[in-house]
Amino acid sequence: MPKFIGLIGYPLKHSISPYFQQAALDYYQLDIRYEAWETGPRKLEPTIAKLREPQNLGANVTVPHKEAVLPLLDEVANLASLIGAVNTIVRRDDKLLGFNTDADGFLQALHKEGHFEPEGKRVVILGAGGVARAVCFALVREKASSLIIVNRTPARAKTLADSLRSHIRDSSLRSEGLKTEVTTLPWQALNLGKTFGRCHLIVNCTTIGMKYSPQEGQSPLSLAVIPSGVLVYDLVYNPCPTPLLLVAEKAGANTLDGLAMLVYQGAASFELWTGREPPVDIMLKRAREAIGGER
Ligand code: NAP
Repeated sequence: MPKFIGLIGYPLKHSISPYFQQAALDYYQLDIRYEAWETGPRKLEPTIAKLREPQNLGANVTVPHKEAVLPLLDEVANLASLIGAVNTIVRRDDKLLGFNTDADGFLQALHKEGHFEPEGKRVVILGAGGVARAVCFALVREKASSLIIVNRTPARAKTLADSLRSHIRDSSLRSEGLKTEVTTLPWQALNLGKTFGRCHLIVNCTTIGMKYSPQEGQSPLSLAVIPSGVLVYDLVYNPCPTPLLLVAEKAGANTLDGLAMLVYQGAASFELWTGREPPVDIMLKRAREAIGGER
């Protein structure tokens, strides 16, 4: 009898996770099927309850349920509760455990594909939603020297900055020497070259440029404000490359697309479910084919 891993979210029509996760499961010839379980908000509770059945090993959770799912689980890992979002559920016996692999996926892609070491670096973050939270906590833990958070809705940027500062001040973490300086700027600051003048890394955590969104085809930054030599990392993975990455290339910046992060966060989930080393190259190849087929 096969076992199952679900992808829980709504809508799921354009998700490519089933392609590269199944490729990884097939690589090990595991009798496990990774399936898209499209789940509207009213169905979230019964879907999570079903995960407790013995044929199910766990799930990925995506938009819009990453936050709503927390109270439905038995245990939530520290990093996931700091971030306030779960993207991976593992069933261990009769317990459902929640994890966040976005932070890990972001860093793995940054190190391995972007060849970038965040310690001591100045970073500008566009956005303050769910994935921005994961990215900012990851960069604080990696000891980036400064984070500037720029978001359309200032209150959301302030909430994120406050929780990062309180994490940095947390006395139990003093021995880890976290010392990132966190500031926020209004959205209009994106038009000013001086916002980026001294930074090493720009991360787009907004949905701007995403295929099928109202901002499809748009870039959050103009060519004039992007310094040459900076690394521009766009977490939007469809289309690939995005309008922002095309502009960044013209500006002489280095670029990193969001597909690598998508695969690395999925690879970390794969390891949690199966205990096996994820075949990242196979997963990346399959993800690139799936996005290519989408275009
Ligand atoms: P979210 O929680 O809904 O946050 C969306 C962010 O985009 C917010 O900061 C929002 O600003 C901003 N935004 C939306 N429309 C905007 C506009 N017209 N002008 C300016 N800002 C706008 O979404 P999320 O889960 O963080 O995801 C954000 C993006 O990251 C998505 O495109 C998603 O596909 C991508 N992502 C990629 C990966 C990966 O593995 N590569 C993983 C997770 C997410 P306000 O606060 O003002 O609304």
